[in-house]
Amino acid sequence: GKGIAVLTSGGDSQGMNAATRAVVRVGIYLGCKVYFIKEGYQGLVDGGDNIVEASWSSVSGIIHKGGTVIGSARCKDFTTRPGRISGAQNLVDRGITNLVVIGGDGSLTGANIFRQEWPGILDELLAQKKITEEQRGKYGHLNICGMVGSIDNDFCGTDMTIGTDSALHRIIDCVDAIVSTAYSHQRTFILEVMGRHCGYLAIVGGLTTEADFVFIPENPPLPDWPQRLYLALVGALASEADYVFIPEWPPEIGWPTKLCSKLTQEREAGQRLNIIIVAEGAIDRNGDPISAEKIKQVVVDNLHQDTRITVLGHVQRGGSPSAFDRVLGCRMGAEAVMALMEATVESPAYVVSLDGNQAIRLPLMACVEKTKAVAKAMEEKQWDLAVQLRGRS
Ligand code: ADP
Repeated sequence: GKGIAVLTSGGDSQGMNAATRAVVRVGIYLGCKVYFIKEGYQGLVDGGDNIVEASWSSVSGIIHKGGTVIGSARCKDFTTRPGRISGAQNLVDRGITNLVVIGGDGSLTGANIFRQEWPGILDELLAQKKITEEQRGKYGHLNICGMVGSIDNDFCGTDMTIGTDSALHRIIDCVDAIVSTAYSHQRTFILEVMGRHCGYLAIVGGLTTEADFVFIPENPPLPDWPQRLYLALVGALASEADYVFIPEWPPEIGWPTKLCSKLTQEREAGQRLNIIIVAEGAIDRNGDPISAEKIKQVVVDNLHQDTRITVLGHVQRGGSPSAFDRVLGCRMGAEAVMALMEATVESPAYVVSLDGNQAIRLPLMACVEKTKAVAKAMEEKQWDLAVQLRGRS
C-alpha cells in the first residue's frame, strides 16, 4: 500500500486529534501504511523515533482530547534546505510519498515548498548515494494535503477552521462565569480574546453572551462588512441579544464617547454590570491598537466604574473539542486521505476545507496567498481591500 504520514504543526487547536484519527483510520481502511510524525516538522527533520507507524488502535481514545497528541512545534530547521533534505531522506527511507499537514498558513507554506523542491532534493540524495536509483524512480513525486487547525477562523477558503467552535465554547463559559461575579459587585469587565487579524471570536463571542461592546481588528465601512460578520450582526438582532456595537460607526463619533454612552445607557436601564470584549488585535479608526488597558482607562476616568480586565489567553485553545470540531476534524481528515489517493503528478497541493457544509478541496497556495494578502492589507490599513479579499469568492 501507499505510505502516508500525518503531522501537526504551528499553534495547536481543538479537533486536531479528530483529524489525525480520521487520517489514520481512513488510510488504513484503504490499505495504506500510515505514519505519525511527532513534534511537527522537527520530527520530520530529525526522523528516528519521531516517525512511527500508526495502527488502528493507536488513535483510540484521542478524539475527546484538546491539543494534539502527536505534538506540535515551530521548527527553524525546516525553513532551511538542509533541514528539508533531511526530512525527504526520512520519508524516502520509509516509502512515504503522501503527507498530510494540519496547521496554519505558515505550516502549509512550508509543505508546499517541500513538495516543489522534492524532485531536486531526490536528485541530490541520489548523487550523494543516500538513496538508490530505484527509490528515485519509485518515490519521485510528493503529494501534499493540508487542513487548517486554528481557533481564529482566519483562513481564506473555509467557512470554519478546526478549533474555532471549541474556542467559542470556552469563551462563552468564561463570560458566563464572569457575569455572575460582575453582577454581585456591579462591575464592568473587559475580556480580551484571541484574534490578531480576525475579529470572528470577539464578535461571535460578544453576540452569544450579550456583551455590551465589542472591539475587533477589522475596521471596514459598514456596507462592505465581511459576510460572516454581517450575518453575526443580523443574528444579534434576530436573537434579541444586546446590540453588538460597532466601534467608531458613525466615524464622526470616537469610540470612547460611544462606549461610555452605551455603558451608561445600560446601567440606567437597570443593568448591574457591563461586559466588553476586545480582540487582541483590535484597532481604532487610525489603525492604532485598542488595548484592554486603554479601554479600562476610558471607563474609569469617565464613568468611575469598578473595572477589571480578564485576559482569556490559552484557555481558549485548550480543553475538550466541541462536537462540531470533532465532526469537522473527522470530515477534513477523511477528505484529505481521499485527495491524496486520487492525486496525480498534475494535481496541485490541496487544502481541504468546509464550504456550505460540504468538504471540498482547494488549491493550497491560492488560499494561503489570499490569507496572507488579507493580513498584509490589514497591516497596511487597507480595510476595503481586506474585506474584499476575505469575502467568499
Ligand atoms: P502556523 O502554521 O500556525 O501559521 P508558523 O507560521 O509558526 O505557524 O509555522 C509553523 C512552522 O512551519 C514553522 O516553524 C516552520 O517550521 C514551518 N514554516 C513556516 N513557514 C515556512 C516557510 N516559508 N518555509 C518552510 N517552512 C516554513
